[in-house]
Amino acid sequence: MRIIDIRETAVPLKSSLRNAVFDFSEMTTSVVAVVTDVVREGKPVVGYAFNSTGRYACGAQMRDRFFPRILKADPDTLLDETGGNLDPEKVLACMMSREKPGGHTERSIAVGTIEVAVWDAVAKIADKPLHRVLAERYNGGRVQERVFCYVGGGWYEPGKGAEGLKDEIRAKLGDGYTMMKIKVGGAPIAEDVRRVEAALEVAGAGEHLAVDANAAFDRPRALAYAKALEPYRLRWFEEPCDPLDYALLAEVAQRYSPAIGTGENLFSTQDVRNLVLFGGLRADRDVIQTDVPQSYGIAQFSRTLAMLDQHGWERKSLFPHGGNQMTLHIVGGFGLGGCESYPGVFGIFAGFADDAKVEDGYLRLPDRPGIGFEAQNALYAVMRGLAA
Ligand code: MG
Repeated sequence: MRIIDIRETAVPLKSSLRNAVFDFSEMTTSVVAVVTDVVREGKPVVGYAFNSTGRYACGAQMRDRFFPRILKADPDTLLDETGGNLDPEKVLACMMSREKPGGHTERSIAVGTIEVAVWDAVAKIADKPLHRVLAERYNGGRVQERVFCYVGGGWYEPGKGAEGLKDEIRAKLGDGYTMMKIKVGGAPIAEDVRRVEAALEVAGAGEHLAVDANAAFDRPRALAYAKALEPYRLRWFEEPCDPLDYALLAEVAQRYSPAIGTGENLFSTQDVRNLVLFGGLRADRDVIQTDVPQSYGIAQFSRTLAMLDQHGWERKSLFPHGGNQMTLHIVGGFGLGGCESYPGVFGIFAGFADDAKVEDGYLRLPDRPGIGFEAQNALYAVMRGLAA
């Protein structure tokens, strides 16, 4: 068997939202199709993925370097030991040939998105849902039925005050979620504290509410928010500062005893290692939020997990970034803490199967083969068009 073609297209997100740092008006996403010569029900098996949320399309690197490397490789060198399926580890190694160490973000998203599309094909060829393939390979065969899923929101929108925020949280709890994350840092601190108090009136205890500052704060503001938020004992305080500013992060962690969440803007195993060694993070409470398709993909993520394990971090501390079907399978397959959800926020890229329902804070894992984008009509229309 072999990969016969790989394609990419950039799709605009069409979102009017903004967080503490930027708006999404120019945001695009790369959609990838990996076409194989394996035929199922009269059609070639195609693996799909997209580059998750919040990073722009990266088709140039894909077309210039990674697609040609895969397509030029001897097809047998990309297969697993049975010879009947692709080996994503080998495809990753092939893409990384002639790549200089470091400078991860320039390629980690392109490489990771292609790698996840290869996994979709692998699972379809194995005729199993991806989470099951991952559980068998990386979690001792412990296949999960459902995973914890919290909902993100609380964006800044013109005219939306504390009452608007409370209505939003009420609606999300009514949809079956038990935990919500809201934005902070887009307003003066006193107003943000009032927003948190309003949110807690609806959400209940602090464990049901997290806040996300989107790495917006300099030192004075990061420390001021840490001090102001500490009494509320929130589930976590996400990205209080630049994720690579380990010294400042350690300072925040020293003065803020509840949980901190970070990692969605770190793209390599090495940077996550630096985070836990030098960022002052605490394995007994803090939360790591790597975005897997943006960080070289699933095989590399398994190495990040092994590294974290050596430093005493349990899998339940991982809540990968990206409220989408790829992350859902990864959380279920590896047995991680949970996943996030952004219903209706990121256009066709938001969320899970069209008929997915959250019950009591949990989402049932899909059981169709592969990642199951076929159950997301609007997104699958784009993917199918790309492969046609
Ligand atoms: Mg975030």
